[in-house]
Amino acid sequence: MEYDAIIIGAGVGGLACGLKLSCEGKKVLLLEKQPLPGGFATTFSRKGFIFESAVHCVDTLTKTEEIRTFMDESGITKEITFINLDDFARIIYPDYDFVADFKQDNFISVLKSNFPQERKNIDRFFRAFDKFHRQFERFNHSRLPLGIKLLISPLAYPMIISTSISTAAQFVDKYIKDAKLKAIVTDIWRFTGLPPSRLSAIYFLLVFECYYYNSTAYVKGGFIKLFQAMVERIKESGSEVRFNTSVVKIITRDGKRVKSVVTDKGEEFSARTIVSNANAIDTLTKMLDVDAVKEEYGRKLASLEKSVSAFQIYLGLSVPAKTLGMNHSIFSISNAYDHDENYNYSMSGDYDRCSLELVDHAQIDPALAPQGKGTLLIMTLDNYANWRDLSEEQYQAKKKEVADKFIKRSEKYLPGLSKYIEVMEIATPRTMARFGTSPEGAIYGFAQTIGQSGINRLAQETKVKGLFLAGAWTMPGGGAHACFLSGIMAGELASKYLK
Ligand SMILES: Cc1cc2nc3c(=O)[nH]c(=O)nc-3n(C[C@H](O)[C@H](O)[C@H](O)COP(=O)(O)OP(=O)(O)OC[C@H]3O[C@@H](n4cnc5c(N)ncnc54)[C@H](O)[C@@H]3O)c2cc1C
Repeated sequence: MEYDAIIIGAGVGGLACGLKLSCEGKKVLLLEKQPLPGGFATTFSRKGFIFESAVHCVDTLTKTEEIRTFMDESGITKEITFINLDDFARIIYPDYDFVADFKQDNFISVLKSNFPQERKNIDRFFRAFDKFHRQFERFNHSRLPLGIKLLISPLAYPMIISTSISTAAQFVDKYIKDAKLKAIVTDIWRFTGLPPSRLSAIYFLLVFECYYYNSTAYVKGGFIKLFQAMVERIKESGSEVRFNTSVVKIITRDGKRVKSVVTDKGEEFSARTIVSNANAIDTLTKMLDVDAVKEEYGRKLASLEKSVSAFQIYLGLSVPAKTLGMNHSIFSISNAYDHDENYNYSMSGDYDRCSLELVDHAQIDPALAPQGKGTLLIMTLDNYANWRDLSEEQYQAKKKEVADKFIKRSEKYLPGLSKYIEVMEIATPRTMARFGTSPEGAIYGFAQTIGQSGINRLAQETKVKGLFLAGAWTMPGGGAHACFLSGIMAGELASKYLK
């Protein structure tokens, strides 16, 4: 039997694509290597505690925007309960400590009260920010072909052009003078994996807008509930989903158009289109059966920079973290005001000084921990090279050493934390590479530099007819929201191709 589409991987991008195509009546086969859906963004449990493996919170799930409309139309939102988060995070710097509110006016007033000398500049910054978003919305919703939109952009959407060719730091520098305020305004850089001096301004502004001005949400019971609902809906539409099935080969007809995939069990499945949510590097340089295309992609992709990796500790506590001082569900803690410095601490494995993020999901949804208990995630960005060459013994020792360090550092805010730990799991960049099957444990696909963002980012379409990509490695980029969009875009292209 020939499927309309085979999707490789049930991460956010693969599921979004599978849902789109199956709801359109296409016959889809979704093959996932792991026993669970969600990829990086899945949920796991240990001794009664439920942990998010990666995601802290996701933006625009509860707003009537693209993703939410897509989920409503596909009928999955009635299966799940979203929990809206009122504000973003407690932002902690050496001499500033406040909560960043989602509501724009509140955020502006908290910034102004902390930086009264920058009041006018704060207004100028947010005016420019709003202007960018008005232009971006118009650009996004225009029905003109992309080529025409780009052609008229210098006149119709000048800020899209200017932010496409500048870094986040260059954008912020135009409006804000105080170095500490600059750091706080760009605190969100860690959700993109690159410091403002290297981060594409357009990606920074989009992520910033999404987290600060849209209702950010959590899913009751864990994000896996959303992914399970997507899997169920795909199956109800007459499509198939198989877990514990890894695709090892993509076979083409004469090297030009897709024909089938071969799994690790030796089965071959045929389809008119194939959408890969597996990382772009493995898909295009290992799985494909066409040597010339593999080599061409090999050269191109080798020249691209991968994003950072991460280190994360999952703690099950005998008390709610709130009782220890976790007075917000997210703490964003930085030692330096210079984010290049903060980034370099992570890259060089300086675990005494790197930025930390503490996340208490059980504060949002108490059912994630047994009655009267709590959860806590401690996360930092990290570098695969810090872990790559260690022997198993060295690796285990370093994991414990870094975890101890982070727990001790967290005790500054949550005194006595170490005494309440009942369960501890640790994920390192090696875990991200192995479990997430991501080269060098990259958690956001390719790094979000100017040259690798916006229209410069790897497209969903490939050189092989009928082969598309979905997920963090492609347009628009890393993060659950972007991967949803990428999956929907890949689905639209596959659907068009099938016509
Ligand atoms: C620690 C951490 C914290 C994060 N925090 C946030 C956050 O707070 N908010 C946010 O929005 N984002 C966050 N992210 C980023 C977000 O999780 C990812 O960008 C997103 O989940 C990636 O989705 P994806 O579609 O690229 O698929 P992936 O998650 O990469 O999934 C790909 C899937 O394909 C499967 N696969 C791979 N190869 C094969 C094969 N050969 N055959 C079959 N299946 C295969 C994999 O098993 C996997 O399930 C975080 C990431 C990490 C690691």
